[in-house]
Amino acid sequence: MTQQLTFDVIVLGAGVAGENAADRASRTGLSVALIEHALVGGACSYWACMPSKVLLRPGAALAAAREAPGAPVDSAVDVAAVLARRDDVAAHWDDAGQVGWVESVGIELLRGHARFTGPRELTLSSDDGETAVVARHAVIVATGSTPIVPPVPGLAEVKPWTSREATSVQHVPARLVVLGGGVVGVEMATVFADFGSDVTLVVRGPRLLAGAEPFAGEAVAESLRALGVTVLLDAQTSSVTRDADGVHVELADRTIDADELLVATGRRPRTDDLGLESVGLVSGKPIAVDDALTATGVDGGWLFAVGDVTGRTATTHQGKYDARVAGDVVAARFGSDAAAREAEDAAGPWSRYRATADEASVPQVVFSRPEVAWVGHTEASAKEAGIDVRVVPYDLANLSGATVLSPTYAGQAQLVLDEARGVIVGATFVGPDIAEMLHAATVAVVGQVPLARLWHAVPAYPTLSEVWLRFGEAAGL
Ligand SMILES: Cc1cc2nc3c(=O)[nH]c(=O)nc-3n(C[C@H](O)[C@H](O)[C@H](O)COP(=O)(O)OP(=O)(O)OC[C@H]3O[C@@H](n4cnc5c(N)ncnc54)[C@H](O)[C@@H]3O)c2cc1C
Repeated sequence: MTQQLTFDVIVLGAGVAGENAADRASRTGLSVALIEHALVGGACSYWACMPSKVLLRPGAALAAAREAPGAPVDSAVDVAAVLARRDDVAAHWDDAGQVGWVESVGIELLRGHARFTGPRELTLSSDDGETAVVARHAVIVATGSTPIVPPVPGLAEVKPWTSREATSVQHVPARLVVLGGGVVGVEMATVFADFGSDVTLVVRGPRLLAGAEPFAGEAVAESLRALGVTVLLDAQTSSVTRDADGVHVELADRTIDADELLVATGRRPRTDDLGLESVGLVSGKPIAVDDALTATGVDGGWLFAVGDVTGRTATTHQGKYDARVAGDVVAARFGSDAAAREAEDAAGPWSRYRATADEASVPQVVFSRPEVAWVGHTEASAKEAGIDVRVVPYDLANLSGATVLSPTYAGQAQLVLDEARGVIVGATFVGPDIAEMLHAATVAVVGQVPLARLWHAVPAYPTLSEVWLRFGEAAGL
């Protein structure tokens, strides 16, 4: 190793979390290096959020038009056009645009794979050889996550698709088996059903979207079945094989034959090959952090982690939130802005220097049909947390806003109230066009706004947001 590079701050991993942390960390005059061994932009831009949402959109648009009398639509999704649009949105898997942004904000991009060799020290391996990269003050790890392939006999050997192959698909399989009924499994089952594949969704548990209210998973299962997807719940996969006829998935009561198999059974933090032992942490485990995103169990306060690698967030929006906090903390603690240092030092729970919203106000949207969106507690998790729970359900079809959208509109919402404090601690919406309704609920949960005060936030007529009036009425207002 001949060369050594030194920066104030090193950010390891240039996904959404790393990019945002690097940007924020550089705002008080610190020199920042961003290290990436693949594409700048990470999973979200090329193999996750953006391509998957673009693949889902045409089917959703057609479904909405079909439900609106007077907008006759009898065509199916134009698969080639959808894939071409997906290619554009994924920038043809070329990161030049994002590299341009990194350079424009004065961050130094280093290409290669990095591993820790000790506190604040890494080795960067690239085509140019090995370089020592040293941080004067802080390292922020943002290496993301990797799909879990469960230990089912034969599964790894058949080279299953992960979400990466599904979202970058070029040739649509005639028959697809999806293992896993979480967000990715449900969204991808919808995409390939829209594309005309014969889809079987195999789910180990009793329902889809296990983290959401039960009625959400039930509505999505019903609608997937209506789309032609075979949804198998409580189904254990005992083995998988592949031969010239495709893959064969053995369940207790049947064999499913398909052309491809997509594993969507969760993800784990990517810490296998980071040399974490050299800084006193364990490879393969998430990097646990506190609300300032500093790694717990590491002396000196120099190590931070953000995004999927922490195991505390698994969405782009929450990872970016953590990244903003971590970047601001680093910029304040180690930068030249005395006022920022003072403010960070005195930071309370709701200051910009603490990621308080990771606890009980995390929003999640599933772009299934119907859409599912929730924030904060479900009824079950609120009860588990010992909250004095009152649940307020509402059938969205009763709203004038729903009537405008479609005479067949079907949707359900549910508020979880903390009776003792009179505030909202959770909300779930299920139905067409509800994704954009979530943020109002998030504001209410984060702001701990009493329902009595929300009564004065008057929703426009005729919109689905009028559900907030009905919630108020049901709660006795
Ligand atoms: C199919 C799918 C759809 C999704 N849809 C949504 C959605 O609609 N909305 C949403 O909010 N979330 C969604 N998510 C989740 C979201 O994609 C992730 O939460 C987010 O991308 C995580 O960002 P990150 O920066 O933590 O990790 P990543 O984006 O994975 O970035 C980590 C980066 O680190 C690099 N790296 C790793 N190790 C090293 C190393 N040692 N040296 C150098 N570089 C390294 C990697 O190459 C990578 O670029 C989806 C996920 C999937 C799988």
